[in-house]
Amino acid sequence: MRAAHDKDGATAGKRSPEPDDLRLLQFLNWVVPLVFGFAALAGIAAALFSDPGLLFAGAILLAYGGLLLVARHRVGGGERGAAVGIICVGLLLAALLMSAVQPGWLAVLVLTPLISVAVALPYVRGGDLLRLILLAWLTVVVMAILSRTLEPLSEPPGWFTDVFTASALAAATAVVLLLWQFSSRLNEMLAQTRAAEERYALAERGVNDGLWDWDLRRDRVYYSSRWKAMLGHREDEVGPEPEEWFGRVHPEDRRRLLEEVGEHLRGRRGHLNVEYRIRHRDGTYRWMLTRGLAVRDGEGNPVRMAGSQTDITRRKQAEEKLLYEASHDVLTGLPNRAFFMERLGEALQRSRSEEGFRLAVLFVDLDRFKMINDSLGHAVGDRLLVAAAGRLKECLRPQDTLARLGGDEFTVLLEGVSGKEAASVADRLLERLRAPFYLGGHELFTAASVGLVLGGREYARPEDLLRDADIAMYRAKALGGGRKGIFEAGMHTRAMALFRLENELRRAIEREEFTAHYQPIVSLKTGLIVGFEALARWRHPERGLVHPDEFVPVAEETGLILPLELSVLREACARLAAWQREFPDHRPLTVSVNLSRDQLVRPELPEQIEGILLDTGLDARSLRLEVTESALMQNVGSAAATLSRLRDMNIRVHIDDFGMGYSSLSVLHQLPIDALKVDRSFVGRMNGAGDDAEIVQTIVTLAHNLGLDVVAEGVEREEHLARLRRLGCDYAQGFLFSEPLDAGGARRLLSSYRRW
Ligand code: C2E
Ligand code: CA
Ligand code: CA
Repeated sequence: MRAAHDKDGATAGKRSPEPDDLRLLQFLNWVVPLVFGFAALAGIAAALFSDPGLLFAGAILLAYGGLLLVARHRVGGGERGAAVGIICVGLLLAALLMSAVQPGWLAVLVLTPLISVAVALPYVRGGDLLRLILLAWLTVVVMAILSRTLEPLSEPPGWFTDVFTASALAAATAVVLLLWQFSSRLNEMLAQTRAAEERYALAERGVNDGLWDWDLRRDRVYYSSRWKAMLGHREDEVGPEPEEWFGRVHPEDRRRLLEEVGEHLRGRRGHLNVEYRIRHRDGTYRWMLTRGLAVRDGEGNPVRMAGSQTDITRRKQAEEKLLYEASHDVLTGLPNRAFFMERLGEALQRSRSEEGFRLAVLFVDLDRFKMINDSLGHAVGDRLLVAAAGRLKECLRPQDTLARLGGDEFTVLLEGVSGKEAASVADRLLERLRAPFYLGGHELFTAASVGLVLGGREYARPEDLLRDADIAMYRAKALGGGRKGIFEAGMHTRAMALFRLENELRRAIEREEFTAHYQPIVSLKTGLIVGFEALARWRHPERGLVHPDEFVPVAEETGLILPLELSVLREACARLAAWQREFPDHRPLTVSVNLSRDQLVRPELPEQIEGILLDTGLDARSLRLEVTESALMQNVGSAAATLSRLRDMNIRVHIDDFGMGYSSLSVLHQLPIDALKVDRSFVGRMNGAGDDAEIVQTIVTLAHNLGLDVVAEGVEREEHLARLRRLGCDYAQGFLFSEPLDAGGARRLLSSYRRW
């Protein structure tokens, strides 16, 4: 305390004077002239009355006035404490001497010790004040004794003594009045301290922070009641040991907290600021922020450390929630792509540092999800995704990472597995997803395609692994879905080729590089050409003529099939209308155009076809649309609606590639169709009296029973033709008659009027 006070004094000298200094100076400005005035008065009186007592009194007053000047100088120099000491003790001394010289003035002099204490009160505290009061009391006692024992040195005239006493009393009153002003200042100060204390107590009780104060020498900690309450404890339930604190800290955080405390105590860190979890009485952990500062002794060794504890559980929870939301998919609660890629990156890192550590990535894509989502609605789709996620999870070990990339795509990271193990996990996933889902009153069948890639240090980036798993998945999907595809080195180049193809296709549509070739369809009754099937061809600027098997699957996958088919349709209709005009004898020539599944479910299709017929001038009765069985069966409802509208427009619909085993007879019966095209695989295997001949026979009979015509595809040999005639087939198409020809070739064929 003393040291701090001295320091304050020293610095105050350099700074502008404090209010307390100003007050003291003000006081001295009043008192110094007063004292010198009285000294002069005494001197003049001593000369007048030749009174040695008065001369002494004047000398004492003069000396005291000098002391006051010294004190005044000290205040100016910032030594307020010393100045007050000089003023007070000097006053007592002066009073004592005065009473020795003039014992008769006791009545007035006895006031001076009181004044001395009063002067000191605002400035002096504790022991010093006590000592001063004692000194004042002693002075009064000594003065009383002196007045009784000593004879006065002189006897000035009575009237003078009366005047002197009266003015001394007036001066004393003035001084006391002055002091009264100071006492109000004293009260103010006391009130301020009291307020500060109350504020502190309030803060301790009211503010959310708990306080602690650790006496390092005794190793005792004062925990405020708020500190204890924050942990659910009553005042008397927590002792003063440090262990009451550190023992409750979460095991994972304890070391860090102790380290931070140590760092600060050793002076390596300016202050303590650390977040950790601490056990509440109810057994849960709360997040706390603790801030603290050490108090050091003269050598800089910490002797005490005190600080606060703030509950930051809510903030931490909010942070964790944000973190969770940023890394998880809202619908399924599974980790999202970002999270998965991070994990994958870590696993790759491990495969680099750990010899023989292998990992596998599975890319899972639900088959037919889009169809379910479109037809049954998003709510059912969402529930299906959640249910599928649940099943996937059941198949995995706790250490495996399952994530949802988006849509119906899931990924799995298997760490430390062999290729065989990964494959069996993939099989397990496929198996589980094959079982029907019961959702919202629907029994849903979905399967999945799983791509599998086994990786290790040969992969530089996690994205590459994911890409290869994706490629393998596409492979599985291309093979019909419901199976797994395992990534092989060649797949990547294939995938790259596909990617390039897609881009080229886009450009080809813009540049109108697609055209149609025409393959004749022959009536088996007349042996004459009745029409053509229009088949898409791509006139590739570098590769020449490209066949549909090479680009139709990619076009279907990318949606480019829609504009492609419409352009083929337009060209074929225009060509047919021209041929009908050119070869009226061949009437009614027909044209068959292939439509993909996606085209079939578009509600605007009938209007578009109507527009093309109007533009090209082709009669709707001359147009046949070929749709495959599988395309029809995948979306019977909406396809049937479109087909009915087409039929109402007098357009005929043929089922392409019939016999591949998709359609059920009852469904076929309900559909508005006109003919079946027997798949060329049956026709090609129709040798002698084999099974396939019987199949064709069955199809023909079935079709005729349903009132449908039959077209045989892939007729390559004379005996097939003869056989089909015998079976009662209506039309035939195949290399026997002609390969698909460009428009010029087809026109020449027409003009030849060939008959088979
Ligand atoms: P598809 O509709 O079954 O067309 C008949 C295919 O069989 C044609 O192949 C034709 O060249 C071939 N073909 C004809 N006669 C014979 C024969 O005697 N023996 C053999 N082995 N094959 C014969 P192409 O032109 O390569 O077309 C392949 C497939 O591409 C078509 O099969 C069709 O599914 C699809 N395609 C063609 N154009 C389009 C189109 O505009 N849209 C859609 N979605 N698919 C199309
Ligand atoms: Ca066809
Ligand atoms: Ca076909």
